[in-house]
Amino acid sequence: MSISFQDLGLNNKILKAISELGFEKPTQVQETIIPRLLTENGDIVCLAQTGTGKTAAFGLPVLQTLDTSKNYPQALILSPTRELCRQITDDLKRYAKYYEGINIVPVYGGASIDAQVRLLKKGAHIIVATPGRMVDLLNRGAANIDSISNLVLDEADEMLNMGFKDELDAILGRSPEERRTLLFSATLPLEVEGIAKHYMKRHEIVTVGVRNSGSNNVKHYYFVVHAKDRYNALKRIADYNPDIYGIVFCRTRQETQEVADWLVKDGYNADALHGDLSQGQRDQVMSRFKHKTLSILVATDVAARGIDVNDLTHVINYNLPDEAEIYTHRSGRTGRADKNGVSVAIINSKEQHKIKKIEKLIGKPFAKAKIPTGSEVCSKQLLHLIQSIEKVQVKNEISEYIDLINDKWKDISKEEIIQKVLSIEFNRFLDYYRHAPDLNIREEEGARRSNDQQREQLPSRSEKGYSWIKINLGMKHNITPRHLIRMASTIGVGKNAVGKIDMRRDITFISISNRAAGFFANEINNTDYRGLKVKTEILRNK
Ligand code: AMP
Repeated sequence: MSISFQDLGLNNKILKAISELGFEKPTQVQETIIPRLLTENGDIVCLAQTGTGKTAAFGLPVLQTLDTSKNYPQALILSPTRELCRQITDDLKRYAKYYEGINIVPVYGGASIDAQVRLLKKGAHIIVATPGRMVDLLNRGAANIDSISNLVLDEADEMLNMGFKDELDAILGRSPEERRTLLFSATLPLEVEGIAKHYMKRHEIVTVGVRNSGSNNVKHYYFVVHAKDRYNALKRIADYNPDIYGIVFCRTRQETQEVADWLVKDGYNADALHGDLSQGQRDQVMSRFKHKTLSILVATDVAARGIDVNDLTHVINYNLPDEAEIYTHRSGRTGRADKNGVSVAIINSKEQHKIKKIEKLIGKPFAKAKIPTGSEVCSKQLLHLIQSIEKVQVKNEISEYIDLINDKWKDISKEEIIQKVLSIEFNRFLDYYRHAPDLNIREEEGARRSNDQQREQLPSRSEKGYSWIKINLGMKHNITPRHLIRMASTIGVGKNAVGKIDMRRDITFISISNRAAGFFANEINNTDYRGLKVKTEILRNK
């Protein structure tokens, strides 16, 4: 017999609210976590993917154990981005619909701190915060977490990926010993285990679904193309899937904007979402995407965290992330709520090892797929057009014009009319794809190129305002892009000044903003990396 929300021990106020939201039965993470939180005291590490219903899993018990007659913060929820903070707050407010006088206050960077201080002063039972802003508020004495009984770290791996380790240490160190700590994470890298070991009492590790695996409803594909054909490959994938509703993930904000601009110029219903946009612009893009007036969203990983949509058809990795774990976050955006989804990666022949690494992590194979040829795209589009025409509702009013239409077309055959009507839309594809080349790399060609290219060939172009710097450290030295970013930050060159990183076996090209490039190259040059003298060389952009 399946378990109901009543069986989990939730009170009537909560049951009523979630039933109105259409929650019929608990998801797996809710079934596992809620009874533990309501009846036991221990700390919990919960490995769960996004979209599994984890907000309610921790949110409902936190609400139920709250005393609204006491006017101080009793729970602190930390999450990596402001979008996620707002989303969690909105969800909690919905669950708390029948709780009178409850204050749930979101606090995050990028918004006026004074307004947030005022809100906190009025009283907060639950604070939902990004780590950086929370530390600022604690330092100002504007937030008080001395009496919290629940501390939730949501998407802990993402918070650590974003460099919030110091902030988490500070907050965990300042919250009361007796609190209960709940840590949610999609993956369990060493850093997350470190946080759990250091700050959590005897804790249980609960895994929901297969650890580190993406949703079972997601199929994973990769396409191998020359790096220069990446954008054309993306267009073919979009054209071959006329009903696409997907997110295209890029690595940098600049690449995100560039790809979105190209798509818009080429007539696609696309837009960009990244950290260089104002909050207002981001809200607008997200709202259009949620309401499906936008069908392709080009986004950075961080910006996409706040998107709560359940029926994406595609996640497209325009570039694979440097860390395999991030792929699980990306692909977990599709195949949610029992829907099927497709996650594809567009790679060049040098990147096949990345696919192997991800396969190991998610425990599922990728299928190698072929970029559709021009004529395959055209057939698919034609079929789609025919289906759309079949679905068109014919309004009665058109009968008034039938005589006029018949008169106008009396000399044209039915076949000709059909061809002409279809051609209105179809010509665009035919014209574009008439001489379209095959974008797939043949196996032998791939192998040959990857050997030759590996060593010294310069990266194509760096972002505007950035310069490439060549460093004599590569994959064989066990260095990762993250190491390099950390290296940069230790000499005061922040993440924002670091652009693309193109890592080869023996060397790496890293693009650094022109303002910091000289400094970076000088500071790193002649330093020691695990016994190797580091050499840097600036390759200025034209
Ligand atoms: P989350 O993983 O918390 O971001 O939740 C993913 C989505 O599932 C959100 O849109 C929730 O509103 C929805 N959701 C959570 N729990 C349930 C449930 N038991 N039944 C139906 N939908 C749910």
